[in-house]
Amino acid sequence: MAKQAKSTWNGFSLKPRREMPEGLWTKCPACEHMLYKTEVDKNLNVCPECDYHFRVSAEVRIQYLVDEGSFQEIRADMTSNDPLDFKFRGTTYKQRIAADEEKSGAKEAMRIGKAFIRGRAVMLGVMEPNFLMGSMGYVVGEKFALAAEKAIEDRLPLVVVCCSGGARMHEGVVSLGQMAKTSAALAKLDSAGGLYIAVLTDPTTGGVTASFAMLGDCLIAEPKAMIGFAGRRTIAETIKVELPEDFQTAEFMLEHGFVDMIVHRKDLRTEIARVIDYCQRRK
Ligand SMILES: [Zn+2]
Repeated sequence: MAKQAKSTWNGFSLKPRREMPEGLWTKCPACEHMLYKTEVDKNLNVCPECDYHFRVSAEVRIQYLVDEGSFQEIRADMTSNDPLDFKFRGTTYKQRIAADEEKSGAKEAMRIGKAFIRGRAVMLGVMEPNFLMGSMGYVVGEKFALAAEKAIEDRLPLVVVCCSGGARMHEGVVSLGQMAKTSAALAKLDSAGGLYIAVLTDPTTGGVTASFAMLGDCLIAEPKAMIGFAGRRTIAETIKVELPEDFQTAEFMLEHGFVDMIVHRKDLRTEIARVIDYCQRRK
């Protein structure tokens, strides 16, 4: 992009000459450039200036990942109930669910279904960051386990795109139970000789990292994705050490052997297809 255009944008953001329709521009949180939203959309929601990968909804993620129109969703109707009658700072869990449903159009933080990725049939799970920050409660755990079961039944590779703030506090111990359930489902898939590819996107944290996100036969991360269990500050304050600048980034994880590869969003489809072919050849 031309330098002149950039300064015009910066100038524009400080001193607008005319009214721009709301939502036409967006600011890259990494390089702070003002970006034309259409350009970012065309670039798979990746910053054209610095390659920052924006967070995307489950709907958009599915569009990017699967062969056009091939996603056949199952159990789209599953919704959370409120096992603990939970209330936090004056807001009930039910109110939070209703608000996020309205905001995101999603019914829960995970969608599952069969799809094709570059012609390879897969069982796909995609997390929804716009619904209670992709947190895992009963429905997410149940859908994940169902997807793993279907993968065994239909002998399909399981591909799950993780994006989550962790276990859902609104469901307390019920949400923690999902860590065991999803891990057990993956143990069954493994015994059946199935393949599980986990795609870790920004952010993958907490109880999701401590269960299904890290249990992939192949762990693929998007560049600069934040991947971790506890938050950076909690760790620093607990063990009293200064943490490196790039701590909990995909790059740090790769260097320390926690992920297998970092793949740019534009190459994800191709890489997943390649891993599937490689693993199926080896059987
Ligand atoms: Zn940027």
